[in-house]
Amino acid sequence: MISRKRVLVTGGAGFIGSHLCERLLSQGHSVLCVDNYFTGTRDNISHLLPHPQFEAIRHDVTFPLYVEVDEIYNMACPASPVHYQFDPVQTTKTSISGAINMLGLAKRVRAKVLQASTSEVYGDPEVHPQPEDYRGSVNPLGPRACYDEGKRCAETLFFDYRRQHNLRIKVARIFNTYGPRMHPNDGRVVSNFIVQALQGNPVTIYGEGTQTRAFCFVDDLVDGLIRLMDTPDEVTGPVNLGNPHEITVRELAERVIALCGDGARLEQRPLPQDDPTRRCPDISLAKRLLGWEPKVPLEEGLRRTVAYFDTRLREGVAEG
Ligand code: NAD
Ligand code: UDP
Ligand code: UDP
Repeated sequence: MISRKRVLVTGGAGFIGSHLCERLLSQGHSVLCVDNYFTGTRDNISHLLPHPQFEAIRHDVTFPLYVEVDEIYNMACPASPVHYQFDPVQTTKTSISGAINMLGLAKRVRAKVLQASTSEVYGDPEVHPQPEDYRGSVNPLGPRACYDEGKRCAETLFFDYRRQHNLRIKVARIFNTYGPRMHPNDGRVVSNFIVQALQGNPVTIYGEGTQTRAFCFVDDLVDGLIRLMDTPDEVTGPVNLGNPHEITVRELAERVIALCGDGARLEQRPLPQDDPTRRCPDISLAKRLLGWEPKVPLEEGLRRTVAYFDTRLREGVAEG
């Protein structure tokens, strides 16, 4: 029998956060979801609201938060380039002030705290695949810097709070994740391709489509996050969490078109500035420390994601 913990999930109404809230509730914990609904929606958590152990509050993590909890998953931060570049200063504030507030909270109540960091800390990597000890190649001045450098500084804060205040910290470096409840208009490659193909519009490939990514289904990712939180106190990470199955963006487009039927057309668009050429996690550490590796093959994950968007589009959510 698992003892019930009080768990705070910031960004809990977002894509990954909502799946995490759902999983923690199913394990018998109490979940407090904190979100300012910038990119998250109440729809993502509406099915959880009747649950007696679930509570949601509208709050911006750049402001202090006084609650009593045992564990904190700090997921709050817009994650897609379109959203994090909409108000870059707010993105940096969310990462840095949000981390400081969650660390201050963790310090006061002696909670364990996990940071949702990102593969973007590696920038446009010169080492491939990326192990955790690779220090990255980030352009601190470019349009992605608000996100990348914000997340890098948040990691610094986590390790300094550990050294200075002996906090129990965990840092997960999350690689490209996809699945149901991705925002249909957030411009990320999986949601874009699926929505475009389902609507019979051209599928937009940026650049030649030779750049690579490796896509992890959200259920696998959530499993990795919870396993990391449950490790002994000496395990801090950073730990890469992602699916090491690397494919080109063009190949992804072809797979999505094959699943959505009707042979949608490919259309080339300019490659955005600082778009990483290759990205793929080295997950040896996660395998060793957490006994974790992704289980859901791309084909199955894409099928489940297509089904989700198909339903949503029929309901008219992505119109306008
Ligand atoms: P998302 O945009 O769906 O979720 C982020 C959530 O944070 C949203 O609900 C948003 O409203 C909320 N939020 C943003 N700013 C906030 C603030 N100041 N105060 C309170 N809430 C705020 O994105 P996601 O894909 O679910 O990402 C969740 C976390 O995982 C993020 O921290 C992101 O950086 C990280 N991550 C995601 C991926 C990925 O591929 N999805 C990859 C690497 C890292
Ligand atoms: N904080 C918070 N909730 C708490 C405790 C602290 O949001 O329960 C915030 C607080 O606003 C502070 C930040 O966390 O600015 C960092 O806290 P810390 O104790 O490290 O520093 P200080 O209070 O000295 O600024
Ligand atoms: N991409 C694309 N077409 C799109 C959206 C994205 O070709 O409609 C490319 C993008 O240039 C990048 C990759 O797909 O090389 C992944 O983009 P995403 O924004 O999903 O994530 P990130 O760049 O943060 O990995």
